[in-house]
Amino acid sequence: MAKRDYYEVLGVERGASEAELKKAYRRLAMKYHPDRNPDDKDAEEKFKEANEAYEVLSDASKRSAYDQYGHAGVDPSMGGGGAGGFGGANFSDIFGDVFSDFFGGGSRGGQRGGPQRGSDLRYTLELDLEEAVRGTTVTIRVPTLVNCKTCDGSGAKKGTSPVTCTTCGGIGQVRMQQGFFSVQQTCPRCHGSGKMITDPCGSCHGQGRVEESKTLSVKVPAGVDTGDRIRLSGEGEAGALGGPAGDLYVVVNVREHAIFQRDGKHLYCEVPISFADAALGGELEVPTLDGRVKLKIPEGTQTGKMFRLRGKGVAPVRGGGAGDLMCRVAVETPVNLDRRQRELLEEFRKTLEGDSSHSPKANGWFEGVKRFFGDL
Ligand SMILES: [Zn+2]
Ligand SMILES: [Zn+2]
Repeated sequence: MAKRDYYEVLGVERGASEAELKKAYRRLAMKYHPDRNPDDKDAEEKFKEANEAYEVLSDASKRSAYDQYGHAGVDPSMGGGGAGGFGGANFSDIFGDVFSDFFGGGSRGGQRGGPQRGSDLRYTLELDLEEAVRGTTVTIRVPTLVNCKTCDGSGAKKGTSPVTCTTCGGIGQVRMQQGFFSVQQTCPRCHGSGKMITDPCGSCHGQGRVEESKTLSVKVPAGVDTGDRIRLSGEGEAGALGGPAGDLYVVVNVREHAIFQRDGKHLYCEVPISFADAALGGELEVPTLDGRVKLKIPEGTQTGKMFRLRGKGVAPVRGGGAGDLMCRVAVETPVNLDRRQRELLEEFRKTLEGDSSHSPKANGWFEGVKRFFGDL
C-alpha cells in the first residue's frame, strides 16, 4: 500500500507550525489510541500512521528532507541521518552511492566520544565538456589534515603516551547533578577520549593531526555531468585520536563549451546556414564531439528548424544509450553584397511580388494580424 502524504495524515497544511502539528497529532492520537479502540485494526493502523507522520514532521531536519524528497527522503532503509558533516551537502546523496562501487564502500562511523571519524572534504573539479563526456584521469591537490608522523597520530610526545584522564577516570563521560536530575555528559577535559596528553607532541601540538596538501589521482568515469560526485573513501581528513579518516567528495563542474550546450545526455548546437542553402537544400558540415559529420538539409528549410543526429550526444555515466545531438539551423542574411548579387536579389524580389505561395510564415503571420485588428 502506498504511503499517504504525512501532512494529509495529520490533516494540516504544508506550512503548518510546530504547534499546529502537535495539536493535530494529539487529536489523532487521542482518537485512535489502541486503549480506546480495542480490537479495531483500522484504528490501530491510523494510530501508527499518525505516529510516523508526527515523528518525521516534528523533526526539523527530517521534515525538510521529507519536503524535498518525499517518503524516499526519510525512509529508514535509505540510511537516513543526513548531517554527514559535508559542507551542508544534500541530505540524500542520490548519486553518490552510484560511485561508491567504483571506489569501495566506506562506512560512516559513530561519533560519540573517543576516536572520531575525520571530516569529509569537498573538492570542486572543473572539467571541459570533452573530458566529462569521455572520462579522464586528473591529478588534484587537496589541503587536508593527515595523521602526524612524529607521534603517529597519538598527539603525545615521542617516548610518552597519553595517560588516563583524571577527571572521568578514563570513561570519557561524567555525571553532572542538575537540580533533581543526574545528567551524563562528555568529559570536558578529555572530550570523551578517556585519555589526557600531559606531554604534547611538538609537531602537531597534541592534535595528532597536521595540515598537509596531498596529491591524488582521480579517475573520472565517462559521461559525468555538473553536480555528479565521486567519493574517494578514506581520503578526507584524518580522524581525531586514531579514528577513521573521512571521505573526499570530488564534485564535478563542467565548463561551458564554445559550441555545444548540454542538457543531460543531449547536446545542442546552432549551425548557421546560407539563405540559398536553406531555400534550395544542401549539405552541411556540422560539428560533433567525434569530429565533423554531414547533414542533409531539405529545400525550404526554415530558420530554427532542429535536426536530430541520433547517438551523437553523451553516453550517461549511469548507463543507458547515448543521447542525441540537436542542431538548430539559423538562416543567415547575406551581407556586403556586390553589384551582381544585388541585381540578382532585386530580380528575385520582383518574382515574389503578389505571390504569397513562397512565404508560408509571412502568410500565416498577416492572417493573424488581420484577425487581431479585425478591420484591416
Ligand atoms: Zn604529533
Ligand atoms: Zn576525561
